[in-house]
Amino acid sequence: MTFATVIVAAGSSVRAGPGLPKPWRTLAGRSVLRWSVEAFAKAGAAEIVVVVAEGRQADASEVLAGLPGWRAVAGGATRAESVRAGLAALTGLDDRAVMVHDAARPFVTGAHIERLLAALDGADGAIPALPVADTLKRGGDSVSETVSRDGLWRAQTPQAFRLGAPTAAYAAWTGGEPTDDAAVIEAAGGRVALAAGDPMLMKLTYPEDFEMAERLAGQARIVRIGQGVDAHRWGPGEAVWLCGVRIDHDQTLVGHSDADAGLHAITDALLGAIGEGDIGEHFPPSDPQWKGAASDRFLAHAAGLVAARGGRILNVDVTLVCERPKIRPHRDAMRARLAEILDLPIDRVSVKATTTEGMGFTGRQEGLLAQAVASVETPA
Ligand code: MG
Repeated sequence: MTFATVIVAAGSSVRAGPGLPKPWRTLAGRSVLRWSVEAFAKAGAAEIVVVVAEGRQADASEVLAGLPGWRAVAGGATRAESVRAGLAALTGLDDRAVMVHDAARPFVTGAHIERLLAALDGADGAIPALPVADTLKRGGDSVSETVSRDGLWRAQTPQAFRLGAPTAAYAAWTGGEPTDDAAVIEAAGGRVALAAGDPMLMKLTYPEDFEMAERLAGQARIVRIGQGVDAHRWGPGEAVWLCGVRIDHDQTLVGHSDADAGLHAITDALLGAIGEGDIGEHFPPSDPQWKGAASDRFLAHAAGLVAARGGRILNVDVTLVCERPKIRPHRDAMRARLAEILDLPIDRVSVKATTTEGMGFTGRQEGLLAQAVASVETPA
């Protein structure tokens, strides 16, 4: 079923505390308004009219940049006036349904929209509704009665209507300010179907709602895994750097920088997790400024790139493969140093060691091998 959408974003948000009105605040880096417009655009709305407060049209252009098929109109002093303005601005007369949605419910999805369009079959309107779970009391300072919650529902948005139904019903409406659009259809004698609501269609009303929404929005994140491998050759020396710790040894690892294969492998694992190439691209061995460099700066750079894209490191795990030196006595110091560089709790950092029982280049003590994996969480 083709459908048009009116998104109401013109309210003054007095209950939401100081700051910008709700639609213009951000949630996980996107404006609250953009969440809804994106969802309706993705679900195939033929037309999206965003109703904003007078003078806010330019703000809409800014926060909705790049999204198709929407335009902004100015709303009125009340929600009902804004809905009327939005309905009047619809041009797609071939649309068979119209959905009216509060911008303050950012987590609407295509599944909600499909469910409502299906429920519209044989009805004049369809609304998402949740049964009332809490016991209801009537009272002032104390309870005067317990109210039966039988047959009571909490109405949410978006609300779906046959095209023309809300326009005609609003024209005939003589009551005060309706609290939703279905009430207007009901008053005009229309049949409004109840579809399954969803707690995720929560309305941002009070300041604490934003905290909860921010946590829910955080679920729109993905976990990425990266791996890194590095090897360096043993050469003459008196100490070796491994995982940011200097260990006295009768040899050293040879390389352009300090040759800390452990740090290099973890750096590559982080770069791999965010698709940012490898350590050689960021710090070319041909560049003299990295000669003898302490490798903790390479790892800190990779961690900075994760943070720059709104990500955070979940854990890192590195395995050092060598016959000598013994890693075990230094393991805790290595974990502590890695935790410090990456600003992670120590239980998110693992250092392990193994030998290859005399086999291969590590067994013949020609060189040391390090392998690492890292997991990071980033916005989806
Ligand atoms: Mg290296």
